[in-house]
Amino acid sequence: MSRANPVVILGAGPVGLLAALHARRLGRDVTVFTNQAPPAHDGRRSNDVRPHIECVPSQVIALLVEFGVAPALLGVEQLFASKCVQWAEDRPVILPAAPYAAISRPNLEAALAQLTERARIWIVPQAVSAASIEAIASDAIVFDATGRRAISAWKRWRPSRPIVARSFHFADASSAREGLALAAGPDGYVYRIANRSGICLGVVGHDHKGSWDNVRDRIAGFAPWIVSDLAANDSLMANGRSGPSSLQWAEAGASAILIGDAEFGRDAMSSQGLAIGLGAAIGAVSLALTGARPGPPADLAHQRSVHAHRILEQIAAAPFSRDHAWRQYSGFLQQAAARVA
Ligand SMILES: Cc1cc2nc3c(=O)[nH]c(=O)nc-3n(C[C@H](O)[C@H](O)[C@H](O)COP(=O)(O)OP(=O)(O)OC[C@H]3O[C@@H](n4cnc5c(N)ncnc54)[C@H](O)[C@@H]3O)c2cc1C
Repeated sequence: MSRANPVVILGAGPVGLLAALHARRLGRDVTVFTNQAPPAHDGRRSNDVRPHIECVPSQVIALLVEFGVAPALLGVEQLFASKCVQWAEDRPVILPAAPYAAISRPNLEAALAQLTERARIWIVPQAVSAASIEAIASDAIVFDATGRRAISAWKRWRPSRPIVARSFHFADASSAREGLALAAGPDGYVYRIANRSGICLGVVGHDHKGSWDNVRDRIAGFAPWIVSDLAANDSLMANGRSGPSSLQWAEAGASAILIGDAEFGRDAMSSQGLAIGLGAAIGAVSLALTGARPGPPADLAHQRSVHAHRILEQIAAAPFSRDHAWRQYSGFLQQAAARVA
């Protein structure tokens, strides 16, 4: 392909927007198709005021700063160097962790949207389907950043008994426990990310149906410490919202290069889309447009392999490791780790 080929990005999530900025820096005309407008510059969508907080390593903060995102805007007030886990043990322990921050996801998207506007990147409010990709961009290099939908993927896997993720968001800044906490349960796990603006609690497994009260009671059965300071009713829950999503994993087809969750959504264990996806997307865009990879991640295949092995170790240590769906998922990860090793 000639160097002048334009770039089309499908999806305006954080990974799609950062990839768009990087492609623009490399001198390409860039168009982003999105089925949902990015949040406004105050970090709010009209129907979404949740304190959606996510953990990212300090290197990712550095990457974002390099692109012009101010750390204060993301709520980066401190870096954490430990996490609290109850994985194979029967009580929580504090473990050292690589430095990470708990950032506001809506503010990140808003900051990136503002930067794309300044960079004269075309944002087209139009949903794309797998069938329409060729027509949209006959001469373009296409990156699929549509998250877990991975609309251009040729193959997908879903466990026969779905593993479902749900999240709950609390605008309670008074919590003493900030940073990341994780606990394994009988059929999955629960994680909690907190900073001074709120708490994001996620549950992954089969059996997390019903109201917040029901979910909270179930978590209290195996890890009471993780929910002890969260009210038993919905009154503190920001916007009263929680989101279910069934997990799946996908493999790239020929028409587009998967980036972000479209590529890494196979990770049902730790939702690494931002932690790994942003840096990996920069590498993928550089590789496709210039044939060179700048800076870290120096070796994406190695990174994926290490990641898959780490998750396999975690599953093996957890109480739910014998569950059929998790064994199915482990099988997929083993294949993925072998493929990239
Ligand atoms: C509760 C929760 C906590 C999390 N915590 C962490 C964490 O601590 N650390 C971490 O690294 N990650 C975390 N994640 C995962 C992280 O949010 C994702 O990995 C990240 O959002 C992936 O970004 P993305 O841009 O690849 O995809 P997405 O954010 O899913 O964006 C995809 C975009 O594509 C658009 N789109 C979809 N289909 C189409 C279509 N057909 N046409 C046009 N546009 C389309 C969507 O509207 C969306 O805007 C968490 C996720 C959740 C839900």
